[in-house]
Amino acid sequence: MINRLLEIDLTNQDFHELEVKENELRKYLGGSGIAVRYLYQHLDPAIPPLHPDNPILFFPGLLTGFPIPTASKTSICGRSPLTGIWNEATVGGHWGAALKKNGYEGIIIKGKSSHPIYLLINSKEVIFKDAYKLWGLDTYETSKKIKEAYPQVQIASIGQAGENLVPISAIVIDAPHCRLAGRGGMGALMGSKNLKAIVVQIEKKTLPITDPESLKKSVQELTPSIKLYTQGLHEFGTGGSVEAREYTGDLPIKNFAQSRWDGAAKTTGQVIVNTIFRKNYACYFCPIACGKEVFLKEEIVHGPEYETLSAFGSNLLNDDLDSIVKMNDLCNRYGIDTISLGVILGFAIEAYEEGLIKKADLDGINLKWGNSDAFITLIHQVAYKEKFGKFLGKGVKSLSNQLGGKSSEYALHTKGLEYPMHDPRAYTGMALSYATANRGACHLESLSYMIESGIPAPEFGYDDLHKPNPHSSDGKTELVVKLQDYMNVLNALGLCKFLLSGRIGPTIVSEWINKVTGWDLNQTELMQIGQRLHNLKRLYNVKLGITRQDDTLPPRLLNLARTDGLAAGVLPDIDSMLSEYYQIRGWDDKGIPKKEKIKELEIFFT
Ligand code: SF4
Repeated sequence: MINRLLEIDLTNQDFHELEVKENELRKYLGGSGIAVRYLYQHLDPAIPPLHPDNPILFFPGLLTGFPIPTASKTSICGRSPLTGIWNEATVGGHWGAALKKNGYEGIIIKGKSSHPIYLLINSKEVIFKDAYKLWGLDTYETSKKIKEAYPQVQIASIGQAGENLVPISAIVIDAPHCRLAGRGGMGALMGSKNLKAIVVQIEKKTLPITDPESLKKSVQELTPSIKLYTQGLHEFGTGGSVEAREYTGDLPIKNFAQSRWDGAAKTTGQVIVNTIFRKNYACYFCPIACGKEVFLKEEIVHGPEYETLSAFGSNLLNDDLDSIVKMNDLCNRYGIDTISLGVILGFAIEAYEEGLIKKADLDGINLKWGNSDAFITLIHQVAYKEKFGKFLGKGVKSLSNQLGGKSSEYALHTKGLEYPMHDPRAYTGMALSYATANRGACHLESLSYMIESGIPAPEFGYDDLHKPNPHSSDGKTELVVKLQDYMNVLNALGLCKFLLSGRIGPTIVSEWINKVTGWDLNQTELMQIGQRLHNLKRLYNVKLGITRQDDTLPPRLLNLARTDGLAAGVLPDIDSMLSEYYQIRGWDDKGIPKKEKIKELEIFFT
């Protein structure tokens, strides 16, 4: 069991180790679990997100770095510069495993350097290195330069968007393979500290395991079925589902305003594999390997995932796959969240059509559906906070507040975070998920669309004989609560959520924890931890003023039904789901966890 944390003070270029007690890990696990334990206690609502006193935490999961399928994830946590509330941006790759193998459960970064720096971390020390020569470079160039000096390292870095404090900027891991901690503007939080990169030495050693033989046996037995159930992800990546989602009504089209779109067939994972595919790649110890290297002319780049294919494709009526690959690559280099940007561009086109944005604002850009040249120009402008891009990079909530008119109808955000590419009118459980997700409109905080689309989860009561009706709001509350608790567990452990597709539930996960740690957790206790973490993140947001009125969806998703396709006529009944949700959660009618619930979950330090 690793029980060391690194606390790094950038202002004074100092660091020291903190001990995290085993009973704390057992109560909160690692990743965003132990991170929220720390951040809740130290939250001062008067300190704005980009103030030097607002920390940023890099916490791999409790199981990250162990030989367990998909145990690769790191949660980057803090108060979001985009939304102003709780944020965890969870990312795979190999960086988190490297940090664990240097003996650290996580890093807390405070203060602000007086000049650009990067951190070089090994098991004994933290070296503060000047980053003058890296500042202004994109994430690919940054990685290349650092690896010329230190070939055996893993790198988390920001591009120009993070340096320029763009609220939708991302942190990029393992560039040029590029796994992004995309959501909520954590790139800007890192940039506000003049921190260009965190470089971790690669250690070959294995982490201590209480019962290694038993763990190995379990992993060997389960890996074939995980691979079997996720074969589509391996073959075609997440983008393999674009056409199916167009058919079911899950694929957002034209800023969530259109029902069907022929262009979907041109922008799929299958087309990528048949045209520009080079090879698969995987995060640490992942048997699924959903990542795709693709060719962009002569270059080899990271292929777009489903979210990006939709955000820059169907959502903008852009069926030019090459342009989507190009836009994705630019965002990876600059460090920009493709989901937020796709939604912002769709919003801007509508606001232009409505006359709220004037031609003179655009500096000659022909802003219209499907015009990928305009989108590419705007990506450059967003990264450098220039011209019209300076306005766009603020996020859709801020833009809508500024523009007024009818724009709030089609400003697709909840709590300031732009909508991901899963339509809550196709899977109504997602409406409740979006309304109550702690970081705003996040699909990953429950993934209920997976179960609603028929993936069995017998431990939660859903199998081939008990499938939820995707279009009904009845019975969704219990599904969402269970999945939210489970997703909190997976983030705290550093496991990929695609394990849900691989039919891995809490029983197997608790067995893996026990084999590693020697604990005796059962699945009920594990789910109780998930519940504790969800509530603690809610309490963090309550401190920042979040109440029931924030737990909602934009008018378009509540009032405008799709007119065609499988989800035609469906609208989620958010009010009834929300009331039931508060009851099940043990929250009052304002959405605040009741004292009895806090006591039951043993959140004593509140
Ligand atoms: S399934 Fe994909 S995203 Fe998840 S750990 Fe594996 S390679 Fe990474």
